[in-house]
Amino acid sequence: METKEFEAESKQLLNLMINSIYSNKEIFLRELISNASDAIDKYKYISLTSDGKYQNKTEYAINLSIDKDNKSLTISDNGVGMNHDDIVNNLGTIAKSGSKDFLTKFKESKDAEDLNIIGQFGVGFYSAFMVSKKVEVITKKYDSDKAYKFTSDGESTYTIEEVERDESGTTVTIYLKDDTNEENYSKYLEYYEIEDLVKKYSDYIRYPIKLLEIEKKPKLDENGKEIKDEFTEEKVVKTLNSMIPLWKKSKKEVTTEAMNEFYKNNFYDSEDPLLSIYINVEGLISYSGLVFIPSHAPYDLYSENYEKGLTLYSKGVFIKSKCKELVPDYLKFIKGLIDSSDLNLNISREMLQESAKLNKIRDNVENKVISNLKELKDNDFDKYSKFFDIYGSYIKFGLYTSFGGKKDLLSDLLVYKTLEDSNKYLSLKAYKDTMKEGQKFIYYATGNNVDEIKLLPELEAYKKKGINVLLCTDNIDEFTLMAIRDYDKVEFRNISSESKDELSQEEKNKIDTLNSENKELLDNMIEALQGKVDEVSFSTKLVDSPVCISTKEGLSLKMEKVINDLPNNNEEQVKAKKVLEINPDHDLFKAIKELSSNKEELSDYANLLYDEAMLLEGYEVKNKEDFAKTLNKIILKSISKK
Ligand code: ADP
Repeated sequence: METKEFEAESKQLLNLMINSIYSNKEIFLRELISNASDAIDKYKYISLTSDGKYQNKTEYAINLSIDKDNKSLTISDNGVGMNHDDIVNNLGTIAKSGSKDFLTKFKESKDAEDLNIIGQFGVGFYSAFMVSKKVEVITKKYDSDKAYKFTSDGESTYTIEEVERDESGTTVTIYLKDDTNEENYSKYLEYYEIEDLVKKYSDYIRYPIKLLEIEKKPKLDENGKEIKDEFTEEKVVKTLNSMIPLWKKSKKEVTTEAMNEFYKNNFYDSEDPLLSIYINVEGLISYSGLVFIPSHAPYDLYSENYEKGLTLYSKGVFIKSKCKELVPDYLKFIKGLIDSSDLNLNISREMLQESAKLNKIRDNVENKVISNLKELKDNDFDKYSKFFDIYGSYIKFGLYTSFGGKKDLLSDLLVYKTLEDSNKYLSLKAYKDTMKEGQKFIYYATGNNVDEIKLLPELEAYKKKGINVLLCTDNIDEFTLMAIRDYDKVEFRNISSESKDELSQEEKNKIDTLNSENKELLDNMIEALQGKVDEVSFSTKLVDSPVCISTKEGLSLKMEKVINDLPNNNEEQVKAKKVLEINPDHDLFKAIKELSSNKEELSDYANLLYDEAMLLEGYEVKNKEDFAKTLNKIILKSISKK
């Protein structure tokens, strides 16, 4: 017998489990049954792909038994089993990223209450220590003739010793903790309790979960009469689960509630999903499945290590848990599973040959998710808005990365807060339907947040004319709109782009005249701004503000910033072509006009006006020192004039 130390992280996790105040301790049974089921899945897969080397067993089952005298509960399977190294690597170490993430999250959280986040992770085998003072595992691997016993009280060490066992598989025995005032552990020794838990969490498990019950019956004499105080014990085996996976049931039988329960138990979430989708396709490739959109972003969605994918089964045999081929990148937040009768069992080895089939399934999953989202948008806009708050940028990402190729599929999913109502989303269709007469474009404005956008000077004219504007606050927004170019043949137009093609001839003439009459002023301002802008021009856009910054030829200020801020952008910084637009009706213009030839004074004003315009566009003043100095100089001057 050898004694080994748990790895450091395991110790931490075990310590958390042993001292757990987590209220939902009963999930340990679900975890152990699910391990048993996975182990059988693995063996079944090996037997089916080993060319007869490892025989398919006549019966696969998960057996539960209760020993009231020893206060123990046993969960036994005839799956793959483990050898010595497997025990060390799988039970002595945290192999699973989910458990590691749990530990990190737990350490980050200050509050003991947060232990409830256990529910969001599959903490697996170690959860047994929430209810046990000792755990014993007897296991034999399918390709080995040696069996081992792992024993631990979950403190800091475990022991491994060689034992005898016939069939491959694993038997986990947990010795329950003693009852306390707060916690009743002995309930797990009651048949009905175990039966309830299996029904609740593990009904869909595809192998029979059998409970061995020992029934005491009065002993009978030769005449068939009961002998007082004498009993016989009879073993009764009861199968507790229905074994039909939910996705194999007919659509009628699969209620949203059942799907939601399934999701919560299998994808470690305490909240119902935002959307549950049942898929059943009969055709060249037949398959069924369940797809879910979580009602909050998966905790690791934004991490680089996030793995997208659906669980893949072939004819009911588990193949792999994160089959990424089934999910387009932009839908990486979906969870679920697909079970196809037309995939080769060796699919993980022959992925290439099967990839055409997987692609077909992926396309259909994509269409199904999108059509369900469209339905949600039409039938429950509030819920859809919640979806869009969380995942909207992924839809935009899908449009952008397909270079607009998914325009027909996805455009109708886009919704925006608008100038008219910045608290509610508006769809592009609704925008188009309520456009002003003669309005040629769908206008949008960009910025870091809605309040900041509302300060844009160039919005003034739109407010005045009552033209609605989409308020775009996502970094990706403008890239997406440029990729799709138009919605139902109406082009998008950034209100900060300097374009004259919407102006009336009269307006154009006015600007031209102003520009040529004030050539000296404009030239001197450009000189004073030393490359900060490419052009200074008069404008008819502004109402109350003296100036604004607009951009020419595609690249906007926001895009310039997004591209230059990209983490691995080592290339030369991109530069938008900027125009400082002047409001000819503003008093400031009239005043500054007097200084047309006074280069020195004009320079101070030009730079301040530029900084003011940039601030209103949502950017910082680049050279703060210069800004402060110039401002002070001007304040002093104006005070001393009095
Ligand atoms: P998970 O099952 O989610 O990977 P666990 O902590 O529950 O995490 O289990 C860790 C590993 O231990 C499993 O991945 C598996 O390799 C092994 N294991 C656990 N239970 C069994 C079992 N009944 N039979 C075979 N291997 C098992």
